[in-house]
Amino acid sequence: MSEKIYLDYAATTPVDPRVLDMMLPYFTQDFGNPSSVHRYGQKAEAALDEARATVARILNCKPSEIVFTSCGTESNNLAIRGAALDAREQRGANQILTTRVEHTAVTKTVEQLEKYYGFQVKWLDIDETGMVLPKTVAAAIDEKTALISVMYANNEIGTLNPVSEIAKICGAKNVLFHTDALQATGYFPMEVESLGIDLMSLGCHKFYGPKGVGVLYVREGTQLISHQTGGGQEDGLRAGTQNIPYIVGFAEALRLTDMEREARVSHLRPLRDRIIGTVLKEVPDAQLTGHPVERLPNHASFAFKGVDGNTLTQLLDAAGFACSSGSACKTGNPEPSGVMTAIGLKPDWGLGSLRVTLGAHSTSMQVDSFLAALPDIVDRTRNLTRDTLSGTSKRG
Ligand SMILES: *Cc1c(COP(=O)(O)O)cnc(C)c1O
Repeated sequence: MSEKIYLDYAATTPVDPRVLDMMLPYFTQDFGNPSSVHRYGQKAEAALDEARATVARILNCKPSEIVFTSCGTESNNLAIRGAALDAREQRGANQILTTRVEHTAVTKTVEQLEKYYGFQVKWLDIDETGMVLPKTVAAAIDEKTALISVMYANNEIGTLNPVSEIAKICGAKNVLFHTDALQATGYFPMEVESLGIDLMSLGCHKFYGPKGVGVLYVREGTQLISHQTGGGQEDGLRAGTQNIPYIVGFAEALRLTDMEREARVSHLRPLRDRIIGTVLKEVPDAQLTGHPVERLPNHASFAFKGVDGNTLTQLLDAAGFACSSGSACKTGNPEPSGVMTAIGLKPDWGLGSLRVTLGAHSTSMQVDSFLAALPDIVDRTRNLTRDTLSGTSKRG
């Protein structure tokens, strides 16, 4: 195979060289600790302040509402655990509302709060596209609700949620609303005022910045109990010396994303639509997963009947195409992903999920060669899957 084609931008993206250039001086030259009083510290603090101001400008909030964290997962943990513990202390609320299609950074966090901290989790119904309807939230919310966490856009199936409508319902009931916006940041408006959100998680490696740095937006007046104790950094919410080069990289990656968002969307949407249209036409027993319209512009996801998704992604990789089945964290797990089960796919469909996600370096020619190769690879996988299944049943 001559060329390797990356079609997994929802898993991660390469660092934009312009972002890397901004980061580099802060490793070696301007390496100070922003908490130090001397001029090394002042220089680092100035970089931190500037990065915070840039992020705040783009989210249309105050710099004091931005908390830098070590990743999107940590932002979700801080938001959910921090808000739940505080809501219980302040008003005895002990119920968390969320969905089965959230990233594990959310589902595992609420499951831990349920198992070890005595919270009650109410799993909100979703429709067959993986969307949470506002009326479902309105029916479930009550005075026991500590917070609601519903993702902006789904990483596995691309579906967008009506987050600003959900935010209105939460606001009217005075319940905090958190959204995991990791996938949405690259493609959708992020102004927290118009979205009406209280807590929002961002992660830099989904939009051409480095891995290992995130942001939690915390609306002014929102109380959180910090889950990492130590120094007073980040307004006491996230102890530990700030990672200045990565934070500088975060701000620059977000700035570029904000500037180039429309161009990225108009480049990717037609490519995505070509993938969806061609796959549904040319691969037998295929269906689109997630919403046909309300979805990420770079995201195509499918289920194929009688196909093992892991085998499929391995054969695709051998042919030069990097895609994923379910979420990257679940590779090697023979169960259908929780998301596939939650949207109601039967196991003979749910195991055969394929996610194809495009990004800045995707070209029309790459899409053509993928689409030319896929039908045959699905066919081969289907035969292999059938052989494995009948082999198992013969052996008893
Ligand atoms: C990638 C991702 C995460 C995890 O972010 P990390 O920065 O890798 O910890 C959480 N939620 C969603 C929706 C994601 O896509």
